[in-house]
Amino acid sequence: MQDIKYCERCCKKISDLNTSDWYSHISIKYCQDCAEIVRKEKTAARVKELRKRKKAKEKEQLEYIKLLEAENKNLRRLFLPTERGDGNEQTEAGTPGLQSAVHML
Ligand SMILES: [Zn+2]
Repeated sequence: MQDIKYCERCCKKISDLNTSDWYSHISIKYCQDCAEIVRKEKTAARVKELRKRKKAKEKEQLEYIKLLEAENKNLRRLFLPTERGDGNEQTEAGTPGLQSAVHML
């Protein structure tokens, strides 16, 4: 244990074991200015991570919806052969989506 601690960010002297109590000495890592900056950085990183996860989840759900739509369309073709009138031959396009979705599971 060092008797004198310095800010991990700007190296300013922040605590002296001889003049501050033990608990605050061991818990302190940054000067007041840097503590505020670090706190903001951590919050920003957390928010960023949260947004990233939310986006990934939305993408996954979208893939799943596409998969279901393709499946639904194929089932309609199988069971309701008269419903092929949209002229849109996109059935094959659903297959890569299906495969990547299967990989995600
Ligand atoms: Zn500092």
